Amino acid sequence: MSTVQSVRSNLARHGLVMVITGNGKGKTTSAFGQALRAVGHGYKVCIIQFMKGRKYGEILAIEKYIPDITVIQSGLDSFVMKDNPAPVDIDLARKGFKKAQEAVKSKKYDLVILDELNVAVNFNLISEEEVIDLIRQKPPEVYLLLTGRYASDKIEEAADMVSDITEVKHHYNSGIKGQAGIEY
Ligand code: ATP
Ligand code: MG
Repeated sequence: MSTVQSVRSNLARHGLVMVITGNGKGKTTSAFGQALRAVGHGYKVCIIQFMKGRKYGEILAIEKYIPDITVIQSGLDSFVMKDNPAPVDIDLARKGFKKAQEAVKSKKYDLVILDELNVAVNFNLISEEEVIDLIRQKPPEVYLLLTGRYASDKIEEAADMVSDITEVKHHYNSGIKGQAGIEY
């Protein structure tokens, strides 16, 4: 890229806060698509996944082919009970959020994705105030993308962009179980 082009892109850069929420399928896969687009421009991406521990297809692909994306999982491959989370679930979510704060502040990453953070907040594993503080204290050039159902009103208000994915229809409701390469 020429110097002029790089100056232009720096001027245009505005570290947005983006939220992808809603009941429809496509939040996490959209976030990983965004990560891929960012990497195409030479960006470094950090993805921290809350409440997840399984090696999803996207993680296997990243480990194999995409060194510019770092994925950190901070959860177990088991269901978290909303009204009675296990101490280990709370502990892992807290550790994941600490890593998220470090990743955002380190400026080592151009884009930080906190996958399912909205759910962790809704389940009271992470406080809404801490997330708002992270948004407010973020370095201006860092892009931040938060995903998961049930995004809170305050988090939506603090964001620059919010997409709410609506479920029109889902094959799960016709009894079709999760498919490799589609659901995981
Ligand atoms: P994806 O990871 O496919 O982009 P998502 O991030 O939007 O989905 P989540 O709310 O994180 O969906 O749900 C996790 C799992 O539930 C995924 O396997 C996803 O395919 C599945 N799922 C998503 N939406 C629905 C739905 N409306 N009904 C049933 N299962 C769903
Ligand atoms: Mg998801």
